[in-house]
Order: sequence, then structure tokens, then C-alpha cells
Amino acid sequence: MDVLKIPKQGPVIALDGPAGTGKSTATKRLAERLQFVHVDTGALYRALAYVLRSQGRWKTGATEDERAAAEVLAREIHLEFRFDANVRPKNRILANGQDVTDFIRTPENSLAASGVSSVPGVRAALLGLQRRLGCQGRTILEGRDIGTVVFPDADVKFFLTASAEVRARRRLSELQAAGGVVPSFEELQAQIEMRDAADAGRSIAPLKQAEDAILVDTTALTLDQVVEFLAGKVHERLGPV
Ligand code: C5P
Repeated sequence: MDVLKIPKQGPVIALDGPAGTGKSTATKRLAERLQFVHVDTGALYRALAYVLRSQGRWKTGATEDERAAAEVLAREIHLEFRFDANVRPKNRILANGQDVTDFIRTPENSLAASGVSSVPGVRAALLGLQRRLGCQGRTILEGRDIGTVVFPDADVKFFLTASAEVRARRRLSELQAAGGVVPSFEELQAQIEMRDAADAGRSIAPLKQAEDAILVDTTALTLDQVVEFLAGKVHERLGPV
């Protein structure tokens, strides 16, 4: 069956945009407010990249062998989200039964996830899972190609942006709050720009705004203002949910 034809059991919201726009936190808050399930699709690519790296099968991602290994693993791996109220973050991701949540957000793994996600076979392999998770309804899927590829039929679509400088600043405070080794602001901005260029420039499912998505520039907005705006638009489109 064409996975894009799996029917939706309830409303689906798509939220796309580059890294550091406040997308993850805004999605989490919006999901709590609407009592929707938050599906962080980036975590799927990150978990896959982490497993490949820990098996030594992904170094730079520049070789055909590495890309072929990524495609094979994407088809075989079992990825699963689990909610655990006792730990932070509460939304956990399991790869073949192992909780990898705490290892997938390092700068090295972020870059590898971006590389892994540019392999067409990887995207195809993860499409069905994302569609099935979202189709349960009352879901908000956060990613890069949700409104364009995974849920072209989403009930409400948003595309978040912000200047690269503001995004780097936000990422810097997140990392400082988390403790550990923190890269410089310039390094972070360069990493963000590199990842944006890779995500927007890839031939398959590049990062781009769906024609019917609502554009939200978060550069000058607080998180509360973003969530307020998103919730307002959802109610405007869907009524009480
Ligand atoms: O959203 P997050 O930064 O966690 O995503 C990690 C990487 O996964 C992104 O840089 C992007 O390359 C990839 N990704 C994607 N499609 C999605 C979600 C994430 O290509 N729907």
C-alpha cells in the first residue's frame, strides 16, 4: 500500500523549519496545550546516525559504502518512541530496544544525522513509520519535510524561521544550560549554516516551506508568543480540538 494513503484517524499538524528556530520547544508546548502527541521526526534520523556511528559504519558519510550501510540499517532498525515521566527529556527514543536519547544531540551526531538523512533510501525507509505514527491523529509532527512529503494532507502546516545569528544564540544558551563542553558562538553559527545548506540543498525532500504552510518568523518573538500564535492558528483552522 502507498504509505501516503494510510488514512488519518484525527487532526495532524505539521511543523517544519531549520534548526534553532525554537521548533522543538514550541512543538512540545503546543502539544501539551492541545493534548496532542508530539512526534519528533529528527530524533529518528539522529538515532539512526548514532547507531551507525557507534558501529563504526558512518565516519564522514562521504563514501558509497557508508551511505549503503545507512540505507540497509534504516530498513532493518526498530525505532520506537516511549514516554517516561520519571526522566528528562520525557520523550525517549529507542533503537533496537536501547534508549539512545541522551547520546543523539551532540554536535558530531547532529552533523551525521544531517548526512544520513540525505540518503534517499533512508528517507524512504523512515517514511512509513512517520506516516503511521502521525496517522493516529491528534498528533504534531516536527521535522523538515512533514508538510511537503510525509503529510502533504496535514490539517494545519507551519514553517518556522529565524535569523542564523538568533538561532546560534539560542542553541548556545541551550548547551550552556545543559552543562558540559560548549562550542563558541562563531562555531555554532557556522555549524548551523552548514547544516541548513546541506538540508536545503539535498536533492530529495529538501528543507522547504510547503506552499500552504503558515510562515512564522520567530527572530523577534518569545517562546510564549510563538506558542500563542500557533495555538491561535490551529483553533482558527480546526475550531476547538
Ligand atoms: O530536527 P533535528 O535537528 O533534530 O533533525 C536532525 C537532522 O535530521 C536534521 O538536520 C535533518 O537533516 C534531518 N531531518 C530530516 N527530516 C526530518 C527531520 C530531520 O531530514 N523530517
